[in-house]
Amino acid sequence: MSFKPANNIQDLQYFGEFGGVNPSISDSSTYTFLSAKTMFHTFEGNADGCYLYSRHSSPSNLYLGEALAAMEDTETANVTASGMGAITSVIMQLCNAGDHIISSRTIYGGTYAFFKNFIPKFHIEASFVDITKPETVKTAITKQTKVLYCESVSNPLLEVADIRALAKIAKEHNLSLVVDNTFSPLSISPATLGANVVIHSLTKFINGSSDTVGGVVCGTQKFINDLRNVNDGAGMLLGSTMDSLRAASILKNLRTLHIRMQQHSKNGLYLATKFEADGLRTVYPGLTSHPSHELFKSMMHTEYGFGGMLTVDVGTLKKANELMELMQHRNLGYLAVSLGFYKTLFSAPGTSTSSEIPEDEQKAMGLSDGLIRFSIGLDADIERTYQMMKACMVELGILKR
Ligand code: PLP
Repeated sequence: MSFKPANNIQDLQYFGEFGGVNPSISDSSTYTFLSAKTMFHTFEGNADGCYLYSRHSSPSNLYLGEALAAMEDTETANVTASGMGAITSVIMQLCNAGDHIISSRTIYGGTYAFFKNFIPKFHIEASFVDITKPETVKTAITKQTKVLYCESVSNPLLEVADIRALAKIAKEHNLSLVVDNTFSPLSISPATLGANVVIHSLTKFINGSSDTVGGVVCGTQKFINDLRNVNDGAGMLLGSTMDSLRAASILKNLRTLHIRMQQHSKNGLYLATKFEADGLRTVYPGLTSHPSHELFKSMMHTEYGFGGMLTVDVGTLKKANELMELMQHRNLGYLAVSLGFYKTLFSAPGTSTSSEIPEDEQKAMGLSDGLIRFSIGLDADIERTYQMMKACMVELGILKR
């Protein structure tokens, strides 16, 4: 009798060198060779299974990379020291001077700043468009366009990219579709929908314990080889390599991601439904009121839900700040940036994670002052959390009793 695969991560089987249930951690920056000839071949990239120097690759980084590639259904992956390390090396690898990028206008503030302020130094230009309108994307394409860039679910506005439609456009115009899937691991698999490169900030849900930064680039063997090329690979030459000890610890956390995502999603949907019913302006892809609810459903792996991110607009920055301070005081979560922690995290993106975006542009994209971004935690009793959050809102006059 044959059984279907368990799940892509559970099915991986790696042992430590003494039979440990976890792979041994590679604690070396450099590797010896019995023959000088093999060292030369390794340098040339022609000696499979040999390691040269840990900025290039290391066993621990390869284990984590292979697990993430299995998760994203790509041929392979390269882990990096941070999500920005993944994003910047991919863009520098794909683009030359004179090239053009079309990016979603609602993306993580650091990525936005990199596109807007940094890459022009290398004569690479970015146009920012409303990614939910494929026609607008098409209109923005020029002869110089090389990359189409978006987040599956955008930070912080939770816009949803139609990855199938974007992949079709990319294919027609010979562009690389690069998708940052940080907000929707397991729920959405961009590569199976046609993305060429999938990126994550591992700092968030995937590691899930807010104790490190990390990133990954998932793609074809050819693209990852190019990134690691000792002569002209942006991964190798810009040096955004993950440390092996961290790779080992992230791999251990990755194994519980499927359970954590289910709980984040369950709690996210519960709170979003309640907040919306209370009359708060709530954005969550799992709500039927979300403009891309059906689109998300058409792309998702149902069992992992709509994710743990939601936003609520409480009207003004003053009210948002008061509410976040009170919720922290009552131990309902932390006033902190980042996401994917066991505890709920909240911040006002306009003055924090998206502050790189000028105020007029924030307004144009609908990022209002009173917006609070929630990364919903793994709370065991979400009904209690809701009642306590509601009490804070009533106390501050945001909601009526
Ligand atoms: N992508 C998204 C969607 C993010 O939210 C972030 C960080 O907040 C990043 C990328 C950057 O990741 P890192 O902070 O790990 O460099």
